[in-house]
Amino acid sequence: MRLCRFDDNRLGLVDGSVIRDVTGALDLLPRAGYPFPAHDLLIEHLDEILDRAHALSPQARTVAVEAVTLLSPVANPSKILAAPVNFEKHREEARKDSALHGNNPSTFTIHTAGLFLKSVGSLVGPGQGVVIRLPERRTDHEVELVVVIGKRANQVSRRDALSYVAGYAIGLDISIRGTEDRSFRKSPDTYSVVGPWLVTADEIRDPGALDLRIAVNGEVRQQSNTRHFILGVPELIEMASSMYTLHPGDLMFTGTPEGVSPIHAGDHIEATIEQIGTMDVDVRTDEVISPYVMNVSSTGASQ
Ligand code: MN
Repeated sequence: MRLCRFDDNRLGLVDGSVIRDVTGALDLLPRAGYPFPAHDLLIEHLDEILDRAHALSPQARTVAVEAVTLLSPVANPSKILAAPVNFEKHREEARKDSALHGNNPSTFTIHTAGLFLKSVGSLVGPGQGVVIRLPERRTDHEVELVVVIGKRANQVSRRDALSYVAGYAIGLDISIRGTEDRSFRKSPDTYSVVGPWLVTADEIRDPGALDLRIAVNGEVRQQSNTRHFILGVPELIEMASSMYTLHPGDLMFTGTPEGVSPIHAGDHIEATIEQIGTMDVDVRTDEVISPYVMNVSSTGASQ
């Protein structure tokens, strides 16, 4: 099934080019009080939500996918994890280009770099778009398969790992290039785009065999297949859960293939992953330039 969130926090089942509004299914979620749960309630209760949504579906109001503002299918992840340099050809292009590796050779491989965290505040859906934070710095697209964790996972082995997955989505790991830590460069507001919907795990038997691509203004920039992962989804979950407990709704960006390139305000991004779909994302900029930003830029760190 394909579950989306749209407009003013409505819930939808995606049926071809149509969304069935099943927001009423959210009524079965427990009423949360302070302190609020530090994980995503909808994903924690996904099976019940999907059953109720399925029951509501025949009588549901329908709306065209293209007529709504698509939000991130997960509203409240406790963590956004991400894999750096997880495609060999992207590792090669990063090694050759100081603008990409930020003069830090120790981060060339996922084995030495490990995973990194993006701020949960950076999360948006495709309909909300990317707002370029530092127009004077190089900012790139990275298209990635995103894994949505379905249940609490602590020290999970790769053999069992896929049983902890609720589903998959398309992600954009928007990245400012430079020498700062990844968490700093990749965490501005809107720099983690997830959508267009959650495809439940039962529909994707092998996350390591999916074509993925991204086009900017109609020009294909990245095109690969997840069979070229250095570490596959099971290994990434094993690695992540060896370090942190994963919770329902936690998101894992799995790494980007070769072909990363700059984006600018006014660009239109089209990101596609086989068996998930396509998401359209517009890029814009704020008018305000922070004085601190200007200071960072003057170090020349962005090459
Ligand atoms: Mn990335």
